[in-house]
Amino acid sequence: MLDVCVIGAGWAGLTAAAQLKSAGLEVLVVEKARGPGGRCSTRRQAGFAFDHGAQYFTARSPDFKLAVESWQRLGLVAAWEPTLTVFGDRPARAGVAPNARLVAQPGMNAVLKHVGAGLDCRFSSRVEQLVRQRGGWSIQLEPSETLLHARVMLMTAPPWQAAQLLRGQSDLAERVAAVPMNPSWALMLGYDQPIDSGFDAAFDNEGPLAWLARNSSKPGRSGEAWLVHADARWSTRYLETSAEHAAGVLLSAFHKRVPAAAAQTPSLISAHRWRYALAPEPLELDYLQDAEAGLVLAGDWCAGNRIEGAWTSGRAAAMQIVQWLT
Ligand SMILES: Cc1cc2nc3c(=O)[nH]c(=O)nc-3n(C[C@H](O)[C@H](O)[C@H](O)COP(=O)(O)OP(=O)(O)OC[C@H]3O[C@@H](n4cnc5c(N)ncnc54)[C@H](O)[C@@H]3O)c2cc1C
Repeated sequence: MLDVCVIGAGWAGLTAAAQLKSAGLEVLVVEKARGPGGRCSTRRQAGFAFDHGAQYFTARSPDFKLAVESWQRLGLVAAWEPTLTVFGDRPARAGVAPNARLVAQPGMNAVLKHVGAGLDCRFSSRVEQLVRQRGGWSIQLEPSETLLHARVMLMTAPPWQAAQLLRGQSDLAERVAAVPMNPSWALMLGYDQPIDSGFDAAFDNEGPLAWLARNSSKPGRSGEAWLVHADARWSTRYLETSAEHAAGVLLSAFHKRVPAAAAQTPSLISAHRWRYALAPEPLELDYLQDAEAGLVLAGDWCAGNRIEGAWTSGRAAAMQIVQWLT
């Protein structure tokens, strides 16, 4: 019997798991992907690397700033100061100082790799079924068909996925299912030659793109790798389209913004759909709990829809669980 089973090895899950472990609890993290990161992952393909989810983060609360400083000292985090432009009318993201955009290096998952290295994590394991039992939970994993038992469960999957697993097991399922998440199509482009774009990153307020970035302009990266995100409107409308179709449309939109790129055929072109990318209306609660069931839910969709929110949520959830179990 584990003390805590954490579902998800993103910012919320790993932050919580590290804290639970340091409180002396027996914790296992279960993650369906092959490694840590969740929506803050790095895709390596054909010699290129792309942060195809989260692009950078900011640190606002004193506690998160302290944590970030410790990662900076380890060389895991650095400031990214791109040459930035904005397409469309709205002003550039106001209030972000040029050196306040932070990235993990050499990829956005670097901090989570570091945190996860000290933890008991089971990757490539999808939680298929949860059953609430007297004194805890039984957790069915696929493809191994392993059955785990834990006194408390910390769920950090995006809300719709969490709700599917919790249906019939906790009254929180309905509430969680109602938390909206916007999708985002991402396009990854690798080039053999540098592209004279005139900028490293751009907010696009006219659509169908929302964001363009020369991924390789971030510290610790190399090559000529570009990452493009479609906006929520286009991504929602074309949620079920094929990756080939999405790649074709987004490449044309990219060429309009970066005409110099049209002179080269990308040596890598790959589209990825984030079905649950960003929470437009996070709950503004640190976490949700069902004390009777021994269940806590955490993630960016609770405490603010960004990396700092996921960290804050995971940390607060862990404190609650420590209070229950110790
Ligand atoms: C396209 C995009 C751009 C973004 N840009 C930024 C940005 O610039 N700045 C910023 O701060 N934030 C950004 N974000 C948001 C940021 O990525 C998230 O806020 C943060 O990573 C969320 O962390 P989390 O731990 O809450 O959730 P997640 O990272 O989603 O972690 C949940 C984990 O649970 C796992 N999981 C789900 N179901 C199961 C299951 N059944 N069994 C096992 N494991 C399961 C998932 O695989 C995932 O790894 C962006 C996100 C996206 C998608």
